[in-house]
Amino acid sequence: MPLPTSPPTLPLDPSESDLLLTFLHERDHACPRCGYNLRNLTQPVCPECQESLFLKVGLQKLTLHWLLLALAPGTFCAIGLGFFFGMSLFRGFPPMPLEGVLTLVFLAISGTVGIWLALRNRWFLRQPTSTQITWAATLWAIHLTAFLYVAYFA
Ligand SMILES: [Zn+2]
Repeated sequence: MPLPTSPPTLPLDPSESDLLLTFLHERDHACPRCGYNLRNLTQPVCPECQESLFLKVGLQKLTLHWLLLALAPGTFCAIGLGFFFGMSLFRGFPPMPLEGVLTLVFLAISGTVGIWLALRNRWFLRQPTSTQITWAATLWAIHLTAFLYVAYFA
């Protein structure tokens, strides 16, 4: 039984399609969906899996680790704050000294910054690596300082 054929989901500009077919002329390249060799493709559709194909510009290496490192402290603070409020809803809010209130405020600010940064991830990734490192290092320094303060002085 022949495979059902489907039209490309995104109609390509003829010149874009020509670029793709020119790129694959006499060149081995695997279909990103099924791995089929697209050498000498004649239509912008994979003959094996029927997936629409297009040529795109990509980065040699997209590094996400500075973003992930910058997001980690805020994410953990937001989870901690959520856990605290979740438990407090079941067991009631505990009486709290000023240090506890300040800790909750810190967790809330950190979680908000983490959410803000996660929403602006494309902006973050457009920054030079040195700026990304500065963001991650600054956020970690603030959180480690707060942690050490709470652990030893509060
Ligand atoms: Zn394919």
